[in-house]
Amino acid sequence: MMFSVDEIRKDFPILTREVYGKPLVYLDNAATTQKPQCVIDAISEEYCSVNANVHRGVHFLSQQATQLHEDAREVVRNFINARSTAEIVFTRGTTESLNLVASSFGEAFLKEGDEVIVSEMEHHSNIVPWQLLRDKKGIVLKVIPIDDCGRLKLEELEALLTPRTRLVSVAHVSNVLATVNPVKRIAEMVHAHGALLLVDGAQSVPHIKVDVQDLDCDFYVFSGHKVYGPTGVGVLYGKEALLDRMPPYQGGGEMIARVTFEKTTYERLPYKFEAGTPDYVGTHALAVALQYVSHIGMEAIAAHEHALTQLAMEQMRGIKGMQLYGETDDKGAVVAFNIEGIHHLDLGTLLDRLGIAIRTGHHCAQPLMQHYGVEGMARASFALYNTKAEVEALVAGIERVRRMF
Ligand code: PLP
Repeated sequence: MMFSVDEIRKDFPILTREVYGKPLVYLDNAATTQKPQCVIDAISEEYCSVNANVHRGVHFLSQQATQLHEDAREVVRNFINARSTAEIVFTRGTTESLNLVASSFGEAFLKEGDEVIVSEMEHHSNIVPWQLLRDKKGIVLKVIPIDDCGRLKLEELEALLTPRTRLVSVAHVSNVLATVNPVKRIAEMVHAHGALLLVDGAQSVPHIKVDVQDLDCDFYVFSGHKVYGPTGVGVLYGKEALLDRMPPYQGGGEMIARVTFEKTTYERLPYKFEAGTPDYVGTHALAVALQYVSHIGMEAIAAHEHALTQLAMEQMRGIKGMQLYGETDDKGAVVAFNIEGIHHLDLGTLLDRLGIAIRTGHHCAQPLMQHYGVEGMARASFALYNTKAEVEALVAGIERVRRMF
């Protein structure tokens, strides 16, 4: 069932503002999404009337805050269809979730010569933690190449998998090409070689229905702020049996069972991985955001964004000098491009003057830029509140800028 974008837009106060006297056309949603009023209210109301530190208090407010925090874990579990809340670890975001796995899984399961495989289209957050581990433990980092349409070369993955492969870590959806990677198929391939699969869901959770049991991935990570939730809170999903065997990532606070100077024992899952005071207001607000999108329906959101992306691609193809990156049919809600003779930074700056916010640069994917032989790209990315009129404004804006050169 479709939804009314006009009605949805009323939920997002920021969308009524102007920049440089022009209505804001916000097309930088892959970097972060705007927040609906219900999320803003959830944060404000919790600080106004509930705020107390969680887990450690016997008093009323602490118990109420704890309840909201733990209810949020159940909302996340349900949203991605994990088996148990023990499998839902709250973190600061995708980057911290990836670093947690690299550090803790690396500690427990990887030794010199073991192999981790990432892909050529990864965000730096899914490259650098593995390089840090390579420096520390002598693991081998391998890379799945892509074709020029932006598809992973799965036959090359098959060739890269060896008895020394321990983990494959790939994006579900690329933040530049918007390729939707066949992670369920990849899970089968990886498991057939006795290795594990980590999926970076930063760009998928906001746009498509994710079911971690159906995908059968071993880890899945995402950020709250890209799915209409607050900044500073994210999620690591991991299969319970696996998380159980991994050592803590950080020490202190909520992750202990008992501490003496001689020996410390750790809390059960998921608390073992949650040292220190969690962002309990953020987790509650994230749950409100997930309930908000669930109410609209992920299928309806995906259909709306797909239509916007197709329209943008179609109209942009007609612009002289246009180079589009990522041309898969089922791609997500991102259009990355360059225009011959115009630096992407100039394009972004001039579009900004027209009220159109896009992102320019390397998009934290420098190896991908190297694949295409460019230093950077312009990127427009869509969300559930974007309209066809905004896509048309983008296209008209690009044409206007192009004529200046
Ligand atoms: N992975 C992908 C695919 C992303 O698009 C991003 C953010 O753009 C990240 C990881 C990092 O997310 P965060 O900065 O929220 O940790």
